[in-house]
Amino acid sequence: MSSELGRLIVVSGPTASGKSTLCHRLVQRSTVDFSVSATTRAPRKGEKDGYDYHFVTEQQFQEWVASGAFLEYAEVHGKHYGTLRKHVEASLAKGHDIVLEVDVQGAEQLKDCGLPIISIFVRPPSLEILRQRLRDRGTETEEQMNLRLAVVEKEMTFAKDYMHQVINDDFSRMEAEVEDLLGYTKENA
Ligand code: 5GP
Repeated sequence: MSSELGRLIVVSGPTASGKSTLCHRLVQRSTVDFSVSATTRAPRKGEKDGYDYHFVTEQQFQEWVASGAFLEYAEVHGKHYGTLRKHVEASLAKGHDIVLEVDVQGAEQLKDCGLPIISIFVRPPSLEILRQRLRDRGTETEEQMNLRLAVVEKEMTFAKDYMHQVINDDFSRMEAEVEDLLGYTKENA
């Protein structure tokens, strides 16, 4: 890692843009953590509580909102998602970078949190390819998929507010680009 202080690596992008895969690759490093968010949405097939998300009730989520447990939180696709402050602070205190996969509203709130941030927006090569990837993933119903596609174009208008934009035309190429801009080398992978 190029910096002694930990940083918040904020990653956003449309659904099925490849941002989750990118985040999981980055956190394979021993000094890079993943911020496990809380959410009120139901787990998808294969997702594990405490690993992919902390899956919580609306009541639990609202208690955490009230107690200031979230560094940021937002409503996305009709469900709540939030970054737990204590996870982020623990990582930074260790000098680790921490990857936050958040939507555009979350990234906007994090801009003013006073912590060192690098923000990255992952763009799909085209909307048509994104649509196809989403169909191939097959984890959403047609109705859920349409809801997600409806917000994609709006999300893309926020890309310019990020410090970096990368295009997922080829995953390995994009991953190398991100490693480079974060100052990561293959040696610390
Ligand atoms: P999904 O339900 O597909 O896992 O996530 C839906 C959206 O919520 C994605 O854009 C994801 O990046 C975002 N998201 C996940 N966790 C958080 C969070 O803690 N805060 C915010 N603001 N967005 C999040």
